[in-house]
This record gives sequence, structure tokens and C-alpha cells, in this order.
Amino acid sequence: MHSRTDLWSKRLARAAEQRRSHDGWRQRPTLSDVAPFIDFAGNDYLGLADDPRLAQAQAQAARRLGAGAKASHLVSGHLEIHERLERRLAELTGRPRALLLSTGYMANLGVLQALCDRHTRVFQDRLNHASLIDGARLAEAPSRRFHHRDLDDLERLLARAPDDTPTLVVSDGVFSMDGDVADVGGLAATARRHDAWLMIDDAHGLGVLGEHGDGCVGRAHDHHQVPILVGTLGKALGSAGAFVAGDEMLIDHLIQFARPYVYTTAQPPGVAAATLAALDLLEREPERRARLHERIADFRREALRLGLPLADSRTPIQPIVLGDNARVMRWAQSLARAGLRVGAIRAPTVPKGKARLRITLSAAHDDDALDALLEALADCQREERA
Ligand SMILES: *Cc1c(COP(=O)(O)O)cnc(C)c1O
Repeated sequence: MHSRTDLWSKRLARAAEQRRSHDGWRQRPTLSDVAPFIDFAGNDYLGLADDPRLAQAQAQAARRLGAGAKASHLVSGHLEIHERLERRLAELTGRPRALLLSTGYMANLGVLQALCDRHTRVFQDRLNHASLIDGARLAEAPSRRFHHRDLDDLERLLARAPDDTPTLVVSDGVFSMDGDVADVGGLAATARRHDAWLMIDDAHGLGVLGEHGDGCVGRAHDHHQVPILVGTLGKALGSAGAFVAGDEMLIDHLIQFARPYVYTTAQPPGVAAATLAALDLLEREPERRARLHERIADFRREALRLGLPLADSRTPIQPIVLGDNARVMRWAQSLARAGLRVGAIRAPTVPKGKARLRITLSAAHDDDALDALLEALADCQREERA
């Protein structure tokens, strides 16, 4: 006889065992206040997260307006500072309006759930972020994946889709585990040919790409080409939260129907203030972006000289695909011993057999940091040959 409680513990034990096999178990490194390592794993591409001006803005707003927003946006949590931030984000991305949400994960759930249902069709790049996949599931929308960055495959799928059905094409702007960039113009043209809407999640492009740091969509592709643009604020902008940008009709619809927007407490005002400060710095200190792209070029030149298997990426995300989990863990541990933290990315985050080090570069890395990284990578190679 099994009690039902037994069934639960058996179920959890089985899942844990499966994950532990093949070096798949994940651990949360607890970081002490004084970082004893150089961080090549985070997404703070412009070095804004530690800028005292963001902390100052956050503290001031918290003192004036409270540590929390106290309610959801539709009840009594929507403050002027949120409104101001939404206007700035709309300006930055060249859109009529923007809507602030608490996280990128929720922004993607919110858009897909509010727009889609069983009577719509969703087409996603195979390597899209988990939150986009989950959003289509939440909406219960029939959803197909096209081959990564393959417009012909998308074209084929769209041609076969029913004409009388609202259709949405969804892609990451910069792919978070590969660092490559979507062909936004090509996606827009393909979507237009089939009367589909296009949604781009530019979480890793915002602040990094584009003439104004406005991302791989931004002002270069207006809302007629890309009707739905999602950006996140916890990466290059160094704070937290996310937004959806588009026209009046879209944003009004989300305010009415996006459950991840409606049923959650508004973002703390201090966080919105920190983001406003980050947007000021993005505009006033373009040299941060220039320095970041120099770092990327430096790293790629030297890593290629070492013969490391770099991916085709011009963004701060520079994966080194090593194949199996054990090898990735060996390299990551060796780098950790040298005081360097990189992402060790395994299945199911990436396909099986494509486990990788995910190295991310930042404008905050100096020459010494980059030298230390390259030296430690060369050591990994030597250890393997020995
Ligand atoms: C990080 C990320 C998200 C989630 O954003 P959060 O604000 O961290 O929840 C969504 N999409 C992509 C592509 C991301 O890389």
C-alpha cells in the first residue's frame, strides 16, 4: 500500500535522480557581499547595476514614495514615476506607448495570454526564451516552432496556416544562449506577406545594439514593422522590470486583459527611479556602449587566436560550445579556481550535446579582467591536452 504522500516523494526523488545523472544538477552559488571573483556570467553589459547614481535615485524615490507600490496598477499602485518611465521607454524605442511590467517573464506571458487563444496561431523561433514558450502554453494557443533564424522554414509554415486565423510570429531579438541576432527586417517582411503580427523580445539587445542603444528593433524598425516589442530592464539597464511597446490599441488591450499585468503589485517606485537614471546614463554616456563593443572585439580576436570554438556572435553573449555536460563543468570549475565566474549552461536550457560556457562581456571589464579570462581559458585547453 502506498500512501499518497509516498507518491509525491517518489515523484520528486525520481525527478532529482534524473537530473543528477549526466552532471545536470543545478546549484545556486551564494555570493558574498564582497565579490571575490570577476563576473563573466551576468547580463550587466554596461556596468550600470553597480553605478552609485542608480542606487542614489532608487534610495531617494524609496524615501519619498515608499519601499513598495502597495497595490496593483489598476487599483492604487500606478504612480507618476511609472507613467514617466513608460513615456521614456516609448520614446527610446520610437513607439506610441509602452507598458511597464514587473519582469520580462511576466511581460511575455502577459502579451501571449492577452492576445492569443485556441483560435489564433503562434510561430516561434526554435531557440526562443522559455517565457515565450510558456506564454503560448498559458494562452492554449496552437504553436509551432520554426528552425532557428530560418525564414524559409517560417515561410513554409505560414503558407500552410489557415487564412482566417489571427497569426503571430515571435522571436528573440538577441538569442540569450547563442548571442546571435534575429533578422528583424526579414521577419517583418515575411510576417507582412502573410498578414501576421510580429513580436520581438529584445531583452539582450536593449542598451547594447542600435544607434541609440535602442536595441535591434528600436527606432530602426517602427511599430508597423514590429507591432509588439518587449524589452527588459534587468540586463543592460542594470535595474529590474520589463516593458511592452506598441500602439495605443495594443497597450490598452494589455491593460484590460493581461493577467500577469493586472493581478500583481506594481513595481516599487525606487526601481522605476533607478531605471530612469539608467536611461539618462544610456543617453549621456554612449562611451559605455562603445567600450563594450571594443571588449567584444578584443575578446573574439584573442579567443580565436587561442583556437577556441567561438560562435558567430557580435553581442556581449559569447558562448563556447563544449558539447557534454561533464566537460562544461570541468572548464567552469577550472575558471572558478582562477577567480572567474562564467555560466555553465546545460540541457534542458540548451539542446542536449550543446552544453556550453556562456561568457558575457561588460563595459565594466578592464584589460586585466579580460587577460585573466583568456589565460584561464588557455589553461583549460592545456589541461585537456595533458
Ligand atoms: C532574461 C530574459 C527574459 C526574462 O526577463 P526577466 O526580467 O529576467 O524576467 C525574457 N526574455 C529573454 C530573451 C531573456 O533573456
